[in-house]
Amino acid sequence: MARADEFRALGMHRRIPRRDFLNGVALAVGAGTLRDGARASAAQTVGAEPAYPPQRLGLRGQHGSAVASFDALARGDFAAPRIDVDTGERYDLVIVGGGLSGLAAAYFWHAALPNQRVLVLDNHDDFGGHAKRNEFVHHGRTYLAYGGTMSVATPYPYSYMAKQLLVDLGVEVPRNQEFQDRDLFEKYKLGASTFFDREHFGTDRLVVGTGRLPWDRFFARAPLSEAARRDLIRLHGTNPDYLAGQSVEQKIALLARISYEEFLLTHAKMSPEALPFFLGQGGRNNKRVDTTPALEAARAGRLGFDGMNLPPEPSFRQGSFTFHFPDGNASIARLLVSRLVPAAIPGHHDMQTIVKAPPVAYDRLDADAAPTRVRLNSTVVRVAVDGPAARPTGARVAYVRDGRVHQVRADSVVLACYNALIPHLVPELHDTQKEALSYPVKVPMLYTNVLLRRWAPFAALGVASINAPGMYYPNVSLDSASTVGGYKAVTTPDEPIVVHMVRNPNKPGLPRREQHRAGQHELRTMTFEEHELAIRRQMTRMLAGTDFDAAADIAGIAVNRWPDGYSYTYDSLADPDMAPEQRPHVVGRARFGPVAIANSDAGAAAFTNQAFDEAHRAVQELLVSRGLA
Ligand SMILES: Cc1cc2nc3c(=O)[nH]c(=O)nc-3n(C[C@H](O)[C@H](O)[C@H](O)COP(=O)(O)OP(=O)(O)OC[C@H]3O[C@@H](n4cnc5c(N)ncnc54)[C@H](O)[C@@H]3O)c2cc1C
Repeated sequence: MARADEFRALGMHRRIPRRDFLNGVALAVGAGTLRDGARASAAQTVGAEPAYPPQRLGLRGQHGSAVASFDALARGDFAAPRIDVDTGERYDLVIVGGGLSGLAAAYFWHAALPNQRVLVLDNHDDFGGHAKRNEFVHHGRTYLAYGGTMSVATPYPYSYMAKQLLVDLGVEVPRNQEFQDRDLFEKYKLGASTFFDREHFGTDRLVVGTGRLPWDRFFARAPLSEAARRDLIRLHGTNPDYLAGQSVEQKIALLARISYEEFLLTHAKMSPEALPFFLGQGGRNNKRVDTTPALEAARAGRLGFDGMNLPPEPSFRQGSFTFHFPDGNASIARLLVSRLVPAAIPGHHDMQTIVKAPPVAYDRLDADAAPTRVRLNSTVVRVAVDGPAARPTGARVAYVRDGRVHQVRADSVVLACYNALIPHLVPELHDTQKEALSYPVKVPMLYTNVLLRRWAPFAALGVASINAPGMYYPNVSLDSASTVGGYKAVTTPDEPIVVHMVRNPNKPGLPRREQHRAGQHELRTMTFEEHELAIRRQMTRMLAGTDFDAAADIAGIAVNRWPDGYSYTYDSLADPDMAPEQRPHVVGRARFGPVAIANSDAGAAAFTNQAFDEAHRAVQELLVSRGLA
């Protein structure tokens, strides 16, 4: 099909609400080049951009204007910035970053010192960082989706303090099951499926019944070579001990040193022809088959290890501690803001009221008289400590807003942003600390939400989720949405639904941190039009044989790109073995005079509880150092 015909058939010309041009172009400061290609044309957008940030669609997550100054920052252009606007403001505490860690830091500070003045600065047009809410408004109804962090869920136990914060916010984690609408998919007999694509498996075929059909029947339907089919059936069955003859200690030592891929090919003797089946399968921290240490795969219960009798990993899973809102942890960010800036979200809110609370008054987030203020669209580019090193008197914080460099002063500063940016914000840090802060490379992630006018094609196939190992989005699922607070989005197959599509871009073959950099580059440079085409093409192929019509059925797209996604975590394959206190995140997070470091990077773990714990530690460090605790 000619490209123009394909575009028309897929509906690339259709007017759906989206934002694919960069309103940040005019905001680029210090001759910084934009980190996302500004190639898409304004002609593709529909009407004016909504004033309400959660309703902005198109390229979301780290949207263009939020990161417009990042390149200039990394080049050192702001080491001694020219201040365009000295606001004359002085705060007791300035927090850089309004994600869950920054908001929690404000909460802890306010709890300790209620009369002090706190300013939270964030580069996005919305608060919450990864806790991002997408709202699709369609025919008068609002459909919610999570554009980033999905749930309170952690393999590591929540600290007392992190649990208590959730209790203070009115989130009753043990009640989660009450709000997960499992009946819906059971009613329509929808289950999991696998899409085998022609590029990797020779032909496009959707096989329904992943995990439900006996594996020999499932793989009998898949387009696989005989060798691949035989090995996949074997691996999904009861496996022998592929390391027979070795002691448990020897097995653990070997598995820690090799990748899961190497284990499958070399020790489990799996045919390389079966390897594409493992593409796109995410391990811990989104590692792939080639970057997951075999030991991690074994401990996560992946295929092939059941014959080895390895001891379980102590205290990794705390699976019952889970809570999911329809907008993910954006509801937690909103609960925090409701406590910090009551004028923006009036009334006392808890988990039952926050989801459907009246729209946030964004214009009240940064009100003069309020003790805590949240200033959005403000990218911090410099934090300069004042006074002698032994007795600092405070700090000046410079940020870019509306294309101009502003300055505020603070007695204390919490950096709740990204570790890798901190050496550019505070170039005076010692080289050892800067090196440690620069070590982690955050995990790039793409959470795309597509509003479909109807989900009858999924119902016709009997699928609620599609694993597509070789496709751009390896994970696609209908979002049945949590019903907490009376929210109910999904009803019959002829009504709208949000489809959640996940990609973790990487480049197999490279070392893990290089793979992350390659994935970050992909996300920063891909235009919305390229994303949209990939989405429409993939859905059309996966739902072939149904009456799915990408042109008619897609009602809205939000591409939440997170080049700076999950915090980096260490493993036995990619990182040197070292004492816990020498780990880069520990060396990197040391307090520097009146500047303390929060955010989940400082805990080297990509979880909400880490964001809370690091906020608490950073606040404590400052309170103690200033004699306020
Ligand atoms: C797609 C995705 C899904 C996830 N799912 C889960 C999940 O289900 N459960 C879970 O527990 N965790 C999840 N996480 C991990 C998540 O990172 C943490 O749970 C937590 O939300 C991190 O909070 P944070 O405040 O440390 O970081 P962030 O949310 O990244 O917040 C940092 C903030 O600082 C801002 N900032 C950076 N630089 C500057 C600057 N120079 N000036 C001003 N502001 C700046 C950033 O833009 C951001 O808003 C997920 C992460 C991603 C990306």
